[in-house]
Amino acid sequence: MAYFLYTPAMEQDRTGQRFKDKAAAEQLAAIIEGFLALLGKRLPDDVAARLELLRSQEDSPLGREIYTAMFANLQMAEALNRPCCQDTGVIQFFVRAGTAFPLLGKLEACLKEGVIRATGSVPLRPNVVEFFEEKNTGNNTGTRIPWIDWELVSGGDTIQVFAYMAGGGCSLPGFARVFMPLDGYGGIFKAVFDQIVAYGINACPPLLVGLGLGNSADAAAKLSKKALLRFIGTRNTHPQGAELEERLERALNTIGIGPGGFSGNHSVMAVHIEQAGRHPAALAMGLSTGCWAHRRGLIEIRKDLSCEVLSHKGAVL
Ligand code: SF4
Repeated sequence: MAYFLYTPAMEQDRTGQRFKDKAAAEQLAAIIEGFLALLGKRLPDDVAARLELLRSQEDSPLGREIYTAMFANLQMAEALNRPCCQDTGVIQFFVRAGTAFPLLGKLEACLKEGVIRATGSVPLRPNVVEFFEEKNTGNNTGTRIPWIDWELVSGGDTIQVFAYMAGGGCSLPGFARVFMPLDGYGGIFKAVFDQIVAYGINACPPLLVGLGLGNSADAAAKLSKKALLRFIGTRNTHPQGAELEERLERALNTIGIGPGGFSGNHSVMAVHIEQAGRHPAALAMGLSTGCWAHRRGLIEIRKDLSCEVLSHKGAVL
């Protein structure tokens, strides 16, 4: 396989900075590869803790069995060193990058390279199909994939990377709509309930529900995905947003879909809301969901390429 890190220009400059850059880029790509391997088989601490809590609060014997099966599945994934679900998703990165991070110019290529390597070594299921060719690329990369969302932090010299294995039954479907102001919050809540009920068992509940509120369909959809990145146990920073999260959680948990769709006390793990200012004439909502195997993680990488996985305590890559 021809890696992007070896270019003719680099070969001509055998003693200079380019070789140091090449070695650093190799190291960064290897960090991303290891990070994806971890994500594929071990749930982040917040998700695992919430599933434990929901299991302890489940009254239905069948529901408790489903949670037990989920945890047995996770133990086997660790023991056998394999992904905990066959659908390892389309890889999405949400990057907060300091503008003084030394490898900023190579970061996109390193993320892509990490995905290619992880596809072979983890392995990840090749899921990326080019749209018009209808052909699987075989390595989980393709046009604009891995999907990368950028946020630049002026002067910072570290990067924080959220990686998300967005599965075909849960996170990728999503939903966005712009309501008239007269539809009010009621219109939004009805759409949330309709959509969660429509997902039913297909999204592998209990679900993490991300709700984006804002001014346009695209902004609300993006915010709904960002809501899924926030750790479970945190609340919206606005008091009304936090209250709305709790109320929606309680209400959605009356539906009775339950773990794995076998009915039970909890159909959702949590509801997270992120919001932006809106136009007086437009009330936009976006909805994204994460399944019980909500495989997203956060890693911080410093300028010397030392790193810490903030979402999985004690993880060693
Ligand atoms: S919804 Fe989640 S657990 Fe279910 S198949 Fe998709 S990725 Fe796997």
